[in-house]
Amino acid sequence: MVNEKYKKMLSNKSVIRQLAEYATARGKEIGYENVFDFSLGNPSVPCTKGYTEAVIRLHETKDPMEIHGYSPSPGNPYVRETVAKSLGQRFGLPYETKHIFMTSGAAGAIAHAVRLVTVPGDEVITFAPFFPEYGPYVNDTGAVLKVVPPRYEDFQINFEDFLEMLNPKVMAVLINTPNNPSGVVYTKETLARLGDILREKEKEYGHEIFLISDEPYREIIFDGKKYEYPSKYFENSISCYSFSKSLSLPGERIGYLAVNPAAKDGDILADMCTQISRGIGHNCPASTPQLAVAEVIEETSDISVYETNRNLLYDAFTRLGFTTVKPAGTFYILVKALEDDAIAFCQKAKDYDLIFVPADNFGAPGYFRVAYCIDTEKVKRAIPVLEKFVKEYY
Ligand code: PLP
Repeated sequence: MVNEKYKKMLSNKSVIRQLAEYATARGKEIGYENVFDFSLGNPSVPCTKGYTEAVIRLHETKDPMEIHGYSPSPGNPYVRETVAKSLGQRFGLPYETKHIFMTSGAAGAIAHAVRLVTVPGDEVITFAPFFPEYGPYVNDTGAVLKVVPPRYEDFQINFEDFLEMLNPKVMAVLINTPNNPSGVVYTKETLARLGDILREKEKEYGHEIFLISDEPYREIIFDGKKYEYPSKYFENSISCYSFSKSLSLPGERIGYLAVNPAAKDGDILADMCTQISRGIGHNCPASTPQLAVAEVIEETSDISVYETNRNLLYDAFTRLGFTTVKPAGTFYILVKALEDDAIAFCQKAKDYDLIFVPADNFGAPGYFRVAYCIDTEKVKRAIPVLEKFVKEYY
């Protein structure tokens, strides 16, 4: 019998993907250069020369049986050790090889992390605005995703509502900083308060509440600021990382999960992931990409373009009277639409070939997301078009 659940999900496909498909089709009609496609979070700068050279070198110098053979289930030990050392140097936590599990991107890392610390029926809390794929990532495990409404003034954590939603069924809290879709980076104060609350509630409920921290945009931080690493603020934490964004490798499907060495069962959680992989068909991460990222572990693509685009768009939106919070990282900005219905707003914007994503699915109805991982030249051309759209419609 065909599974009705997945059949039903077909009619609930990602809005982002649908808009991206629309933009591509429209591009065929009028030329893609004339479509201001702000829909997809696909990096717009190439990966580093170092990464490309590492792939070539690996293929030219290593034994093909090694390069193309199965990777060990938790990942290549040399790669895991390299990741552990790099994390330790950057954030000061004593990671070792045993704490690292290589995954297919952040998606793969979250899929494992949720299964590590929940059983069906448990609750996982996240904070709006949030990445809509958290719905399937969590709910498909049998755990239930609960969403804390946004704190609109700055898109930091809405602690008031969070405290009300916490209950003994909550086994994990899923955060994302820098955030997709707001571009907001959680402050030291936010993370410290979150850690304090979790510690207090763990005592009260008599069980761990794990912090799953989704960090694919960790390096894309603006204004010369430093990244506040969530795992420094709470012991029972699992950091989920991806090379998709900062190193521009979304197609390679490579990332990792890093278990806080101080976490409960911290020495075996990464190993337990190998058992989860067996069940979800993830078994063995891609071989060449993991070996190649280990060669360039401290590199990022030229991500400065995203800050340039952020400045241009933030200035334009505020000048035109939009309400928004200035992004401190990522390549997204979340903006309040000029009418209550952001879906209607984005539909009208399409008349000007401006492709924005209504943020209803991100838990921020009335807002829309602008993914500015596109050429700066196109961002500049989009601004007068945005101005025209606003003048003519509102
Ligand atoms: N988490 C967030 C917040 C994202 O924005 C994305 C991708 O856009 C992912 C996870 C999934 O990333 P990956 O490509 O590494 O699986």
